[in-house]
Amino acid sequence: MTKYIFVTGGVISGIGKGITTASLGRLLINRGFNVNLVKIDPYINVDAGVMNPFQHGEVFVTHDGAETDLDLGNYERFLGVDLNQHSNFTTGSVYKEVIEKERRGDYLGQTVQLIPHITDEIKRRIYQIGKDSDIDVVITEIGGTIGDFEMPPFVEAIRELAVEVGRENTLFLHVSLIYTLANGESKSKPTQHSIRKLQEFGIQPDLLLCRTSQHLDDSIRRKIALLCGISEDFIIEGLDTKCVDEIPLNFEEQGMGHLVSKKLGLERRATLDAEWVAMVDKLKNPKHSTKIAIVGKYTTGSDAYISVQEAIKHGGIANEAEVCIEWIEAESLTENMDLDGLFENIDGILVPGGFGDRGIEGMITAVKYAREKRIPYLGLCLGMQCLVIEYARNVANMIDANSTEVDEKTSYPVIDLMLEQRAIADKGATMRLGHYPCVLKENTKSYEAFQQPIILERHRHRYELNNDYRSRLEDAGLCFSGVSPDESLVEIAEVPDHPWMVGSQFHPEFQSKPLTPHPLFRDFIASVLCYQQERTELGDK
Ligand code: GLN
Repeated sequence: MTKYIFVTGGVISGIGKGITTASLGRLLINRGFNVNLVKIDPYINVDAGVMNPFQHGEVFVTHDGAETDLDLGNYERFLGVDLNQHSNFTTGSVYKEVIEKERRGDYLGQTVQLIPHITDEIKRRIYQIGKDSDIDVVITEIGGTIGDFEMPPFVEAIRELAVEVGRENTLFLHVSLIYTLANGESKSKPTQHSIRKLQEFGIQPDLLLCRTSQHLDDSIRRKIALLCGISEDFIIEGLDTKCVDEIPLNFEEQGMGHLVSKKLGLERRATLDAEWVAMVDKLKNPKHSTKIAIVGKYTTGSDAYISVQEAIKHGGIANEAEVCIEWIEAESLTENMDLDGLFENIDGILVPGGFGDRGIEGMITAVKYAREKRIPYLGLCLGMQCLVIEYARNVANMIDANSTEVDEKTSYPVIDLMLEQRAIADKGATMRLGHYPCVLKENTKSYEAFQQPIILERHRHRYELNNDYRSRLEDAGLCFSGVSPDESLVEIAEVPDHPWMVGSQFHPEFQSKPLTPHPLFRDFIASVLCYQQERTELGDK
């Protein structure tokens, strides 16, 4: 019998429901259960693909090519699993499916309504996630906050699902905020209100996770327990932390895994999550510290590049190093500014993915600086395209080389729209998405990193290296160390006479996990540390 856990949020959004969900998943897989997860986003967009990453955070890409909410990245990293296109859905996608069915006549003349047709479709999707016979637990996280206008159909659907599978097979976890006043007093009233809102929908939460900036005292636990009907030991503290990877360990310490499995009749003793403990230990006690620059369209303060940040952290773990990030807004970077000053104390440069023309010249300037000063460089998707453009302009003498995404009239369109993209007008889910194989050339930095001839990596792009310029760029020294199996598409470009300068058309960050850091990030950070050592040795002389 599959068990169902539902995670809802109270008071405000952005308090870590995703990390809480992922952490709980980790505790359950550590008990040997098979866990599957689904994130529901109550917004109208059909998927996250065309949403602004500055406002909404990164668009995460699954191996089968779905453009999803960034929480799927958290789930994959914490659980070490690969999710798929069914692991995230929205109000838009549910309505789209129901309306398509209605147009086909599938409802045989019925009046199509929110209840039962929309709620049935929501339940069908959640059940589908648990269908695999070996899935023990499905964790469903509902985005947003209880009380949001888009919320009721989803809350009704999970309430009904709990009735259908039996209350003993379901667990409701509510993640809420305990607000701290300026005088240090903790306030539980907003949390009480959000629980009452859930109760209005007929849902009694079993477990409460209180996000808080200070320890919860007994009186606040007693108050919540009494007023909201949650037993005191089912109130878990989610104290603010800088190290999100530590959270599953904190939850385990408070008995969350035990409480959840007991409630669901899944009792199985926890073993020490030794690998995770060792990883967190490395993370918290680094032997080295270094700093790299990310030159991108968006800078700090958003989750626009969260998987990139995480993958850098993983590269750090693999090298026992703490990697600090200096955010540089690409648009603000020009060739005639004091670049030596700007990149002082920087041991590596990374240009992440992106779309449109804003900031491109700044990114290309950063690439040139990295190439000329022999600073380790990693380019991700657009960052690889910038590497190619810079090389074409400044080494292969194609003076105004560019991507046609930026300049349609360039004399050297070294990056151009893919053939299969030319007839596409719609923006949603139409890019080259998901994983594709890439064949690696021996005796290159890429081969050295992966140590295998064929890799599978995730993509999200419309443009590619223009094959008309391939041999000219190769003649000028650029190495295409990864190509598609039919050799029609360049997947990796690297500069051979440079300590470490690699750009990939794919997004390696999506596959990097704390326990299995991605080889490109691992080797990039290793070269960053070498560069740092050389730089400091030179400085000492
Ligand atoms: N805008 C570029 C393209 O579509 C790069 C995309 C990306 O960086 N994800 O090919």
